[in-house]
Amino acid sequence: MRLSRFFLPTLKETPSEAQIVSHRLMLRAGMIRQHAAGIYNWLPLGTRVLKKIEHIVREEQNAAGAQEVIMPTIQASELWKESGRYEDYGPEMLRITDRHQRDMLYGPTHEEVVTDIFRNNIRSYRDIPKNLYQIHWKFRDEIRPRFGLMRGREFLMKDAYSFDINYERSKHAYNQMFVSYLRIFDRMGLKAVPMKADSGPIGGDLSHEFIVLADTGESSVFCHKALLEMSVPKNVDYDSNLQDIVDEWTSLYAATDEKHDVNVGAKLGSDLVSARGIEVGQTFHFGSKYSVPMKALVAGPGGEEVPVQMGSYGIGVSRCVAAIIEASHDENGIVWPDSVAPFNVGLINLKVGESDCDSTCAMLEKAIKAEGLDVLYDDREERAGVKFKDMELIGLPWQLVVGPKGIAKGVFELKRRETGIREELSLDMVVKKLAASGKHVIRIAGDDI
Ligand code: ATP
Ligand code: MG
Repeated sequence: MRLSRFFLPTLKETPSEAQIVSHRLMLRAGMIRQHAAGIYNWLPLGTRVLKKIEHIVREEQNAAGAQEVIMPTIQASELWKESGRYEDYGPEMLRITDRHQRDMLYGPTHEEVVTDIFRNNIRSYRDIPKNLYQIHWKFRDEIRPRFGLMRGREFLMKDAYSFDINYERSKHAYNQMFVSYLRIFDRMGLKAVPMKADSGPIGGDLSHEFIVLADTGESSVFCHKALLEMSVPKNVDYDSNLQDIVDEWTSLYAATDEKHDVNVGAKLGSDLVSARGIEVGQTFHFGSKYSVPMKALVAGPGGEEVPVQMGSYGIGVSRCVAAIIEASHDENGIVWPDSVAPFNVGLINLKVGESDCDSTCAMLEKAIKAEGLDVLYDDREERAGVKFKDMELIGLPWQLVVGPKGIAKGVFELKRRETGIREELSLDMVVKKLAASGKHVIRIAGDDI
């Protein structure tokens, strides 16, 4: 992509409305613009990151056996009256009346809708387990939308729902999602710690919040420091018994504020980390909380009808973008992890219009793209200082600088954004090095300009 054609309205000044660094940087880097309180436009740079995160979530949820669906954003209120949540949910639910005076609502979550799909289509234990998920916009009329995407009113969520015949099977479905979450956040470059949590309005007896530690986090959290050093499971067989992995991750103390036990915490002494945290996901097991009132019954092996056992599993996909920036930035801007970077390489032409520089850049752009990496080529007629500043701000993992002096010597400067380390390399070496770093790069569909 040529920067001269790309829609990238970066800002030099720090917008005064933004209180936390991720919000400031997303505005300054031209990723988002506010439309109304807690409602945002996603500009091309932000959209690319969101798509890459979605891709990771989709790949890992599919691997864990969940199947993607799309449910409506606007829901009929009847189902919520059946489950008993229509009144309970309160003013966070955006209620809408259609032209026939029917009560509708913009979905804040989808337990009711998915339970309705299930009960209308599945009747026998033979047809389960099932796990359905979607990646979809939710609306919650938060009383104080703030911190940009962290607490928006409209936000992108991945929500999965599991259906099983009994508690044991259902616990396995919970474990599958638990392990999948460990992998998802790890692939995004986030260190997310599962913590025992309260289940809130979703209800249920077993719940974990996945928390990224950050000073700007809204919750106060407590955990054993060893949890921050654990490495996530690789090559998971989701049909195998996952209890050992879950036990390993839940045996050390970790709790959100509501579940924190001061006495247990005190016993940990200097091993206790007490910090602020961002909730990037939550898993709930709630058994028959919805299947009983909504009569989602299945026939068991003996023909008896039992309410299906359910769980639900959310990830704040748009909140993850902000959480990644909170966890990975410096005074000059964002520092994207490779896996979710909007482009992998920023190619800087120091002398646009000079034929050697132009042709070398065009050639490099082609060679790097041929390795499957995304390149943002700064071909603008701007001063070098402006180009470097913008590149630092948008935080692409690699910067490749091409100027007349380097061309004369046959070398290019390759800089790693994260470490600031610069190397002068020949063309072959540049391409080789980038190719080696890009093994797991995610391409955005239809993107080859
Ligand atoms: P919170 O406690 O932050 O209000 P929640 O517990 O009500 O969130 P869940 O119902 O667990 O939210 O939703 C699943 C995920 O969706 C959360 O873990 C979070 O990452 C994300 N999320 C929830 N509310 C918002 C919001 N207002 N803006 C952005 N993301 C959100
Ligand atoms: Mg939650």
